[in-house]
Amino acid sequence: MEARINIIGAIVLFLSAFLVSSATGEDLAFCLSSSGVKNFTTYYTTGDYLRLLNISIMNLRYAKPFVNKPVAVVLPGNKEQVAAAIRCSTSASWTIRLRSGGHSYEGLSSRDDGPFVLIDLMNMNRVSVDLDAETAWAEGGATLGEIYYAIATSSKRYGFSGGMCATVSRSGSPSDMAKLLHKWQTTANNVLEDDYFLQLAALPGSSSNQSAELISVFFSGLYLGPKASALAITDRVFPELNLTAQECAETTWAEGLIIIRGDNAVRTVEDLKNRFSYQKMFTKTKFDYVETPIPLSALESALKMLTRQPRASVLFDVHGGAMYRIPSDATPFPHRAGTLYGIEYFVDWPQEEDADYGVRYMKGLRRLYEFMTPFVSKNPRRSYVNSVDLDLGAIDWTDEKQLCRFDAVEVARAWGEKYFLGNYDRLVRAKTLIDPNNVFRHPQSIPPFPTKTLTRTGH
Ligand SMILES: Cc1cc2nc3c(=O)[nH]c(=O)nc-3n(C[C@H](O)[C@H](O)[C@H](O)COP(=O)(O)OP(=O)(O)OC[C@H]3O[C@@H](n4cnc5c(N)ncnc54)[C@H](O)[C@@H]3O)c2cc1C
Repeated sequence: MEARINIIGAIVLFLSAFLVSSATGEDLAFCLSSSGVKNFTTYYTTGDYLRLLNISIMNLRYAKPFVNKPVAVVLPGNKEQVAAAIRCSTSASWTIRLRSGGHSYEGLSSRDDGPFVLIDLMNMNRVSVDLDAETAWAEGGATLGEIYYAIATSSKRYGFSGGMCATVSRSGSPSDMAKLLHKWQTTANNVLEDDYFLQLAALPGSSSNQSAELISVFFSGLYLGPKASALAITDRVFPELNLTAQECAETTWAEGLIIIRGDNAVRTVEDLKNRFSYQKMFTKTKFDYVETPIPLSALESALKMLTRQPRASVLFDVHGGAMYRIPSDATPFPHRAGTLYGIEYFVDWPQEEDADYGVRYMKGLRRLYEFMTPFVSKNPRRSYVNSVDLDLGAIDWTDEKQLCRFDAVEVARAWGEKYFLGNYDRLVRAKTLIDPNNVFRHPQSIPPFPTKTLTRTGH
């Protein structure tokens, strides 16, 4: 059966290759070569095409054979080659997809419904650290791990906040775990100090009893100071956690991140440089922000729902500290003072479960998200652009009829304001100045105004 699916996949792949004009593809290859871009692969050159395309697609839902493939994968080595790749693609009317790490949950860096060129920046991953100026510059293709590595090997004193995963765990009934969660949401950004970060993740089941209706809660803590102080603070403000000295480690900042990540593929600071260390899965994610503590009864009901979702997990990311001191309009990311925490609903599953359960898993996740509606931010129900979610809406840039009927700026407001709040209009103005022809686009990209309507403001 599997072999048959693979054959069908190969035929679909071949057909989509066939449907793209070979003359234009050859023109693209000629234009790239004569512009000094040698590092690319197309349908018309065999070899590395599928390997280079798939190597960075983190969400396997978008690596399936029937997903539309790019006419070429280009790997520029410097900004001149990026410019040449964009020129060659747009002059032949190909849509462009840019890819850095390929972690987009909706595969937005690797797919398009029409013919497109994928420009992958993985070879532009240089990071330079200037300790005197307290700055680090990273090229567009550098991963978080590569940035962590560069900083960790330059200094024992400096760090850079970014993504992380779970560590110390507790498990019990939904009702007991809801009490822990309820305590955490009123503690984590009010009582704990600026230099103590504590987030958690809830999962169905427990390591000792998979069949019972239990919930496991994993706490990730990062404290900038000695272990004894971390223990004393936790005992004082969160005694329910029963944190023990054995569960804490005193390390450098980078080693601490590795412990928190808890992944066999990354054990040393050197391993942070491996951009392909994540295990790939089929995934779907959704996101909420919470401004007022969620009642205990609602948390309990949500955790009960989670016990019926074998592949789902819910991450609670505390906000506060320095994040609150940055004004909401200082950067596009607006979720600052007043935001208690973010909730990331997440489900992933392996290849062998995809055909039978994939759709069911995603439906379960959407049900949980619906259930949470009364307890999370409103008007708009806010979201986090890194957890990009096409359920919030999308624009089909190839549908010219639709684009004539609707004002793209107003259509995109549906998700643009969820991600960026009041910064959305400013982003539209910036987009209009920087990319008036909308060369860089995807189903949830910021649209430009039609050029005539642009007015400059003080921002
Ligand atoms: C396993 C996993 C763990 C994660 N953990 C976290 C976490 O802890 N915290 C968090 O905040 N997020 C997390 N995310 C989400 C992740 O941060 C976002 O998906 C982020 O956008 C990934 O960056 P990337 O460069 O890998 O994305 P890509 O998929 O390469 O790109 C994302 C989007 O940006 C565009 N783009 C890429 N490069 C450029 C460029 N140079 N110029 C213009 N546009 C560009 C792409 O076209 C695409 O639309 C996680 C994702 C995964 C898969």
